[in-house]
Amino acid sequence: MLKHLISLLVLVAVAAPVMVSAEEVVVYSARKEHLIKPLFDRYSEKTGVEINYITDKAGPLLQRLKAEGKRTPADMLITVDAGNLWQAADAGVLAGIESPVLEQNIPAHLRDPQNRWFGLSVRARTIAYSTERVKPAELSTYEDLADPKWQGRLCLRTSKKVYNQSLVASLIARHGEKEAERIVRGWVANLAAPPFSNDTKTLKAVLAGRCDVAIVNTYYFGRLQKKQPDMKLALFWPNQDSSGVHINVSGAGLTRYAKHPAAAQRLLEWLSGEEAQAMFAGLNMEYPANPRVPASPEVRAWGEFKADDLNVAELGRLQGAAIRLMDRAGYR
Ligand code: FE
Repeated sequence: MLKHLISLLVLVAVAAPVMVSAEEVVVYSARKEHLIKPLFDRYSEKTGVEINYITDKAGPLLQRLKAEGKRTPADMLITVDAGNLWQAADAGVLAGIESPVLEQNIPAHLRDPQNRWFGLSVRARTIAYSTERVKPAELSTYEDLADPKWQGRLCLRTSKKVYNQSLVASLIARHGEKEAERIVRGWVANLAAPPFSNDTKTLKAVLAGRCDVAIVNTYYFGRLQKKQPDMKLALFWPNQDSSGVHINVSGAGLTRYAKHPAAAQRLLEWLSGEEAQAMFAGLNMEYPANPRVPASPEVRAWGEFKADDLNVAELGRLQGAAIRLMDRAGYR
C-alpha cells in the first residue's frame, strides 16, 4: 500500500504541470480496508478527488504520525475507539477544525470538545447471553455482573483491549475509582475462564457452554449471527434505568501537518453526511453517528436502547486510570 502511495505521489508530482486540479487526500486508517475502501471509491467517483491510504493498527499509525512530524504525508487519521482518538489528540498530531457541517451532523458527546476528532460510527458494548441458560429478567446492569450469582458464568475479553479500557473508564466516570474497582473485582471473581483475546472467541465460549454471559461489541454478535442464524445467543441492553448502554465510536480527525487540509475537511464532512453514514456504519453493522441516519435493518432488529450520553472523550481521559485499576483488580 505504501509503495502504491509513493508511486502515486511521484506520478502526481511528475504529471502536475499538465493536470488541472488533481485534488488528493492522504489517509492513515486503523479501520480495516474493506470497511473504508467502498466509501473512498464512492467519494472519488462523485468528486474526482483521489484518496490514497494505508491501513495499520492504531498504535503503529500514531507512532508513525509522531515520528513523521511535519513531513507526514497524512491529511487524515481514521481510527477506532475514543481512547485511541484521545491519545492521538493528546499527542498533538491532530488539528482542531471549524466546521458547522460536522458540528451539525455529529452530536457533541460523540466528538472531541476541541473538535480535533469526530465520531463517525457508534459501537455498543453490551451483554450477550445464552438463551438456553439465562432468562433476560435475570440481567440488569454491567454492575450486576459483579454479583456472586454470576460466579463461574461470566466470560470477558482481555483487559489489554482498548474497548474494555474504555468500558472501565465509563465505570470510573459514573461511580468513581473505588466503586469501579469493586465492580471489576467482582467480574474477575465471576470469570468462568481466563479472558479471551477477542470478542468472537468470547461469544463462542458462551455458545460452547463454558459461560452464560459476556460483554461484547454488537457487530461481533452480528457477524456470528450471519453465519449461525439459529445460534442460542441474544443481546441484552443493560443500564436502561441508569447510565444507558456503554457506547464508543470509530472516528477521524485532520492531522496537524496536513498538506491538503481543505480537501481533507471536505472528505470528513462528506463522511458525516447521510449517504456516507449509512455505508460507514452499515459495512460493519454499527450505528451511524449522525442521528438523522437510521441503522441498517439487521442492526435495528436487535431493538432500541438508551445509550450512555457521557462524552466519549472522557473514556480517553480516564484510560490510564482504567488500565491501572484493572491491573490492581487482577483483570488480565
Ligand atoms: Fe472491533
